[in-house]
Amino acid sequence: MKALAKLERAPGLVMTDVPMPEVGHNDLLIKITKTAICGTDIHIWNWDEWSQKTIPVPMHVGHEYVGVVAGMGSEVKGFNIGDRVSGEGHITCGHCRNCRAGRRHLCRNTIGVGVNRAGAFAEYLVIPAFNAFPIPEGISDDLAAVFDPFGNAVHTALSFNMVGEDVLITGAGPIGIMAVAVARHVGARHVVVTDVNEYRLDLARKMGASRAVNVAKEDLKQVMGELHMCEGFDVGLEMSGNPHAFRQMLEVMNNGGKIALLGIPPADTAIDWNQVIFKGLEIKGIYGREMFETWYKMVALIQSGLDITPIITHHYKVDDFEQGFEAMLSGQSGKVILDWQ
Ligand code: NAD
Ligand code: ZN
Repeated sequence: MKALAKLERAPGLVMTDVPMPEVGHNDLLIKITKTAICGTDIHIWNWDEWSQKTIPVPMHVGHEYVGVVAGMGSEVKGFNIGDRVSGEGHITCGHCRNCRAGRRHLCRNTIGVGVNRAGAFAEYLVIPAFNAFPIPEGISDDLAAVFDPFGNAVHTALSFNMVGEDVLITGAGPIGIMAVAVARHVGARHVVVTDVNEYRLDLARKMGASRAVNVAKEDLKQVMGELHMCEGFDVGLEMSGNPHAFRQMLEVMNNGGKIALLGIPPADTAIDWNQVIFKGLEIKGIYGREMFETWYKMVALIQSGLDITPIITHHYKVDDFEQGFEAMLSGQSGKVILDWQ
């Protein structure tokens, strides 16, 4: 079958032929319809330090997808051939303490689809049936293909109560922008988002941000004044991985504020801990999505009127994948979809 793979320990990905994956007793075989390009795929494309340490070569990558069940192992129940599915890219062990307690997102033995094992940028993907999530009618293939990053946004945004709260989101990448829409939908008062990229700030405005602030040009504290926010933000979602953004967030949080950290900062990032201690801030690290509460919430949010479709800005046939990666690399994009049919 056709697959988009890392064949050499060097930048880029190559369309190649790989053997069909084997289907184990508990596995689903999924015929891929559409995939989306993740920031992680960009790291892998660029072959940065993290990728060099993490990605086995040769391997095909990708973990944002939607497809159709094309086969299954003998032990699988609850799925039928032809079911439309996406899936949780974190494959968990099932026997550590957190897994056994139902907290699969905290499994200590997580393996990533398209990161530690063969991925979804291929005609077919095999995953444990446990990881598959059925997509209800009324949710488009495009949307289902971005459920993985949408899930990051939903898991992060729903970490704390936002009803009537003032929310700061640092980083208007695709995940930050989707988090804007979620915060707005669930009843936040002001949703302020920061970035240094005008294209993305514009997209965040379309998705319901009260203010989308270019921190390279504008003063966040002045914007807060204009919104009559005299005390500070109640909830912060760090979605840039940029140390300056995190430090700025700490400065503008109200006492007792709550912060969820999704962005991955450099390991040696230093912050002013006094901001955390004397403000009594609560900080929560976020990894992935809750299995499968976040997935149910994603469906319910869309069914209750949340519209995240503007986040999908580019479509390409998979044979034009290079253009798709270029669009992502340019920073002038939201989510980029690759069509496998
Ligand atoms: P992205 O890189 O597309 O977006 C990050 C955004 O931050 C960019 O638009 C960038 O311009 C902006 N930025 C840079 N400097 C800034 C500053 N000083 N202030 C505000 N914004 C600034 O990433 P994404 O795909 O949207 O993901 C968001 C973050 O979450 C990334 O750090 C990614 O690595 C991380 N991530 C974490 C998980 C997890 O499970 N924890 C999962 C997916 C992604
Ligand atoms: Zn586990």
